[in-house]
Amino acid sequence: MVPPARTQSLIPHNEALNHYLFSGEIKLLQGLHIGSGRGDETTDALVIRDAQGKPIIPGSSLRGVFRSHMERILMGLYATQVTPLWACQLYEPVLPEEKVCVGSSAHPASLAEIRSLQKLQEGQSGTDAVWKKLPEVLCDACKLFGAGSFYASKVRFTDLPMLTGSPNPVVRHGVGIHRDTGTAADGVKYDKEVVEAGATFRFEATAENLVDADLELLALGFSQLVSGELALGGSSGRGLGGVELIHGKAAWVTLKEKSEAVTYLLKKTYPHQQELSAFIDSGLKKLLAPAQEGGANAQANP
Ligand SMILES: [Zn+2]
Repeated sequence: MVPPARTQSLIPHNEALNHYLFSGEIKLLQGLHIGSGRGDETTDALVIRDAQGKPIIPGSSLRGVFRSHMERILMGLYATQVTPLWACQLYEPVLPEEKVCVGSSAHPASLAEIRSLQKLQEGQSGTDAVWKKLPEVLCDACKLFGAGSFYASKVRFTDLPMLTGSPNPVVRHGVGIHRDTGTAADGVKYDKEVVEAGATFRFEATAENLVDADLELLALGFSQLVSGELALGGSSGRGLGGVELIHGKAAWVTLKEKSEAVTYLLKKTYPHQQELSAFIDSGLKKLLAPAQEGGANAQANP
C-alpha cells in the first residue's frame, strides 16, 4: 500500500523555527575540474578560484549535484511505494500520477499551474493567494530547495575554500570522446586544469525552518555525499569529479525554545550537535519506514 501523503503547510520565510548548520570537509576522490569559463596561455580551461587565487568549489555546484542525485534516489523509493515524498526532478517532464509542481516548467500541467500562479501574483491579494496555493503545487524537494521565483530555498551551501592540497592545479590533456559512439573523436584535443585527488575543502551548509520531510530528504542526500557517490564538474564519466564528505557534523537550535534561543543568540553556539552519521541514520530510518510512525515501532524511531 502507498504510504499516506503527508500534507505539511509551509513555514513563512520571515518566521524562525529552527536553524541548522552542517559542516565537515569535502575530500576529492578523483581530480576535479570546475571550469571558470576562462583560459590562459597554458590551458583552455582554468578552474574556478577565489580572490586569493586558490581553487574553490562553488556552493551552487555542490548543491545542484546534491539535489539532483537525492531526487533520483527519492523517485526510486517513491516508485516502489516506500515513501510518499516525491520530487518533480526539474528537467524530467514525466511527473507521477496527476501531480504538479511549479518548480518544473518542463511539464505541461505544471506549466499551466505556473501561469495561473503568475496571474494570482498580479491580483490584489497576490502574495497571500499564492502562499495559500503553494503547498498543493510544490513537490517535497522544491519545498526544501526552492522553486523559481515562487519559493526560496531553505538550504544554503556556502562556497568551499581549499583546506589542504596543492593550490596549483595540473593541466591534463585528453582526447575528445565522440558523444554517440564513445570512441575518440578525430583530431579533437582538449586540455584543462585539474585539482588533484586528495585535496580537501571546507564544507558548510545552513538551513532553517526544517520540518520532518526536509530532514529526511537531507539525510538521503548526505548519505550519498558521505559514501562518495557524488561527482562534481560534470565529468563523472571520465574519471573526474568524485568527492566524499568526511568529518561531518550536524548542529541545530530550536528557536521556539526560549533557553535554546538565548544560548544560540548570546553565545553563538548550537545547543544540539551530533555526528552527521547519526543525523543520517535517524533521517533515513524515518524516510524508509514512514508506516511505523505512531505505530508499534514508534519508540525505535524517536
Ligand atoms: Zn518540484
